[in-house]
Amino acid sequence: MKIQFLGSAQEVGRSCILVNDAYLLDAGIKIGPEESEYPLDFSEKDVKAVFLSHAHLDHTGALPLLNHLGLKCPIYATKITKQITKILLHDSIHIEKLSKNPAYSEENINNILSYFQFVEYNKEYEEKGDGFNAKKENFAGKKNSSGNSRVKFMLFDAGHIPGSGSFLLTINDNGKDKTLLYTGDINSISTYLLDGLTYDGQIAKENAKHKLKTAKLKTDSLKNDKLKNDNLNIGKLKIDVMICESTYGGRDHPSREAQEKEFLDIVERTVDNKGSVLIPAFSVGRAQEVLIMLSKRRFDAPIFLDGMAKKVTNILLDVPAYIKDVKLLKKAISNIEFVKDFNHRQMIVKNKGIFVTTAGMLDGGPVMDYIKYVYDEENSALLLTGYQAEGSNGRMVLEQKKVIVDNKMLNVKCFVKKFDFSAHCGQKELLQMLKNINPTHLIINHGDIKEMNALAEKAAFIENIHIPVDGEIVRIN
Ligand SMILES: [Zn+2]
Ligand SMILES: [Zn+2]
Repeated sequence: MKIQFLGSAQEVGRSCILVNDAYLLDAGIKIGPEESEYPLDFSEKDVKAVFLSHAHLDHTGALPLLNHLGLKCPIYATKITKQITKILLHDSIHIEKLSKNPAYSEENINNILSYFQFVEYNKEYEEKGDGFNAKKENFAGKKNSSGNSRVKFMLFDAGHIPGSGSFLLTINDNGKDKTLLYTGDINSISTYLLDGLTYDGQIAKENAKHKLKTAKLKTDSLKNDKLKNDNLNIGKLKIDVMICESTYGGRDHPSREAQEKEFLDIVERTVDNKGSVLIPAFSVGRAQEVLIMLSKRRFDAPIFLDGMAKKVTNILLDVPAYIKDVKLLKKAISNIEFVKDFNHRQMIVKNKGIFVTTAGMLDGGPVMDYIKYVYDEENSALLLTGYQAEGSNGRMVLEQKKVIVDNKMLNVKCFVKKFDFSAHCGQKELLQMLKNINPTHLIINHGDIKEMNALAEKAAFIENIHIPVDGEIVRIN
């Protein structure tokens, strides 16, 4: 098996991995402070299928450009991944137009969206490698397809964001079946919004019907998007190659309960001191999780939701099968107000309130309108709820208490704190999973080298560990 890293090797961003020159695992961009980085060059037109783990742009953002360069094939993902990807790609083209590489158009985005084929969790599918030479109804292993290569695949709930999954591919490689598990981004820590992934044999409910060896191929299953939550006990399968993310490969997360309590205490204290609370949050998952947390207490101030998180929240309410308990989200929403437009925003921000809005790293979006009113108020608070990348405004606030708004550098006087509500496994959870799965080959990606080395050191019970660089080809015999 030939596995080439076109991105995400020793970095977080532009996840894009080419298997046997024909199958693509994700196609993301790396969003930088100036312009996005794209996957390395390869032959787009030879790709027979894309397996898309989840909607985040570091896994999907390159798809329109790749289409412009010749990619035309089925894209396998969950239904909600398509819905969220649609919003994120249409939004990102505006950012891309500002950069030097606007080579693709809205048409490429629409093409990409038309290639999606819906996959349900824990079901087996077959990709015959026909690409778009086959008619649509020939997908998923209809007998009359003519391709000679084939890949069986399954998707497991990855617990990272709604609709996220880990792909298990069984690839016929020189006459021998080889299993490849691609984790995508994973979280085994349960949140209000999602159950953690269940690779752990003790947690997973084994379901004989879905055992890989005995599963009957369902040629029509792509048409049926009813969800099943009876997870396969993946810990008991033989995995030849596992490509594992390592965002937090070297660290453990602090206790989620303690983080949540401190977060709510600070919101309460700030509101009681007549301050406003600005909560920048990523639009997919994090904003909704924060809203549910806020609904656990009563505050003496109104709560507002702004930015792209509004659209994503509506999708989650529309397709509730992908979240743990839609009632929790509905209850949280019942107590908040969606900000309608710029004028509405200008009106509410002058009064005290709790504002949950995108972008999560203070790099653009409505949050920039709010920060102007909050940054120099000592009794107000800015509470960051996720990863703050190098070079982002959010990182600068944390490290230097400064923020750039409208090209002006401002000194931040309000209370600032970052909370760890991560959607990724910490080291402890990754190791637990690696012990359960115990693959023959482990390839570590999607992390900084420091995190990768720390994980590799602790995972030394696995015989073959690879930490490739971008462009490198890992060959597995
Ligand atoms: Zn992600
Ligand atoms: Zn990612």
